[in-house]
Amino acid sequence: MANKYIFGSGISALIFKKFNSEYEIISPDEKVGGQLTKHKNLLTTFYIHNTPETKSLLDELKIKYKEKRLRIYYYYFGKLLENLTKEQKINIIKNKLKEWSYDSNSCDIDNLVLSTDNTYLDILDCKVEELIDKLTPESYTRGSVKLINNNRQFFIYKDEKGELITEKYDTLISSIPANIFFPLMYNYKRSYYLNYLPVTFIASKNKPRFIKEDAIYYVCNDTLCYNRCQPYGDSGYIYECTGIIDDETIEKQIGGVISVERRYVGILKDEEINNFNNIKFIGRNALWNSNIKIQDVIKYAKEFRRSKNDKV
Ligand SMILES: Cc1cc2nc3c(=O)[nH]c(=O)nc-3n(C[C@H](O)[C@H](O)[C@H](O)COP(=O)(O)OP(=O)(O)OC[C@H]3O[C@@H](n4cnc5c(N)ncnc54)[C@H](O)[C@@H]3O)c2cc1C
Repeated sequence: MANKYIFGSGISALIFKKFNSEYEIISPDEKVGGQLTKHKNLLTTFYIHNTPETKSLLDELKIKYKEKRLRIYYYYFGKLLENLTKEQKINIIKNKLKEWSYDSNSCDIDNLVLSTDNTYLDILDCKVEELIDKLTPESYTRGSVKLINNNRQFFIYKDEKGELITEKYDTLISSIPANIFFPLMYNYKRSYYLNYLPVTFIASKNKPRFIKEDAIYYVCNDTLCYNRCQPYGDSGYIYECTGIIDDETIEKQIGGVISVERRYVGILKDEEINNFNNIKFIGRNALWNSNIKIQDVIKYAKEFRRSKNDKV
């Protein structure tokens, strides 16, 4: 085996592998793609932003796309707004960072970025499943990393048969969410505050009355359990809620349920996670930074390839 490994097989790991093919992926996933494969409703709210990095990747992989501009609206206490004052923006973010029936938010707001700073989002409309398929490597190692020692440079993973395998490494690239990764480093005293809230995604046939076109709608209303809503193909709408919303509330406030996913962990407060000498972090969850998108991973993966001695 190579002495260079990527932990995880989500979109970040696949992109890194594309530009650094000598690295070996280790992941427990039966099918690659991470959250985007596991959570169909998250996939619906995931966009490939229109940037030079994403365009060049899709072109390189010969994936067809359409450049599209999506409007962003704000349903703010009963009014549909196109622009927000700073105060309104803070209230929308606070609302997103708390469970709907809870009165105060759980942290100070220091990040004023929603999906973009603008009232629209420029995307490359394409099939994300096709992107995952085209990035899927011929093979990868199935296993779950159980512990890492960053001083003696070895890690242990549990393979498909349940056996514990020890490997030495030169360089590790981790896309494992930071809240899972750092407890695996048994010799490292961490000081990160990795606070998160669960998220519920509901696909429903019912259209909220404020939706007028194919756009992203952020919602801030004390009587509604969801904080974001958008059309979902021709068949319905995706509602995003912070926290675990019970069936009764979903039925009462949304109804017409097609499916409910209560799995995803949403970052509550960003952290500044720094690379180690021989371990680098990629992707939103590994870096615990909710602003990271796939264009940042592409940029990093290419810079990493360019750097002569793997020290980026
Ligand atoms: C609501 C929402 C909307 C979003 N919208 C966008 C968007 O529009 N554009 C965008 O670019 N990004 C968006 N994101 C961020 C997006 O989710 C990420 O860019 C991307 O899906 C994260 O992929 P990842 O590979 O970094 O992580 P993941 O998909 O979480 O992959 C982590 C991998 O680590 C593996 N793993 C876990 N534990 C272990 C272990 N012990 N050993 C080995 N492997 C392990 C997992 O099995 C998995 O393969 C959005 C996120 C959310 C929640």
